[in-house]
Amino acid sequence: MKIIALGSPGVGKGTYAKLIVEKYGIITISSGDLFRENIKNETELGKKAKELIDAGHLVPDEITIEMMKERLSREDTQKGFVLDGFPRTIPQAEALAEFVEVDMAINFKADKEIIMQRLTGRRTCKKCAATFHMVNLPPQVEGVCDKCEGELIQRSDELPEVIEERLKVYEEQTAPLIDYYKEKGLLRELTINEDMGKYKDQIMEKVFTAIDNN
Ligand SMILES: [Zn+2]
Repeated sequence: MKIIALGSPGVGKGTYAKLIVEKYGIITISSGDLFRENIKNETELGKKAKELIDAGHLVPDEITIEMMKERLSREDTQKGFVLDGFPRTIPQAEALAEFVEVDMAINFKADKEIIMQRLTGRRTCKKCAATFHMVNLPPQVEGVCDKCEGELIQRSDELPEVIEERLKVYEEQTAPLIDYYKEKGLLRELTINEDMGKYKDQIMEKVFTAIDNN
């Protein structure tokens, strides 16, 4: 089972990926973790990536692709995997297709109002950094941390206008990738607006059915 997980911030992709790998006994490979691992272990690729990042540059596709190629050649990927955060660009997708045959790319979706509510509803304690959510995990007293009575604030990167911009950038960057997998007949789209806290079993049933019917 070789799956690519796509989906905008706030869609819950990471959570779904985690439950998919548990169910099918496969592993998840996140591009962020892979970068951190390479940098921590001071591999050749990790060293190059770190130099670029430290100098304020973006890491070019070739390095990301090489890291992924090496990762996917390891024994523990034999049974399958869910890729999270890779590919992000068409060159990455094309390179991936040269060394691995994926079964499907699942595009996790949710209505924009739902995503906005999830991402802008978060409140963080100024004192102890505990997080709450206005709708899903409200504090006992509005604006006050349950744990230390510190003041709850909205982080600047979680303000509605900042989130709007992040979603717009995501859409623009990912649209070509969605088209790419659609053309290959590998794209599966799942719209999930329900709350995982309340409807986890029903939601995951829907996800697993889509995978099993592939
Ligand atoms: Zn606190």
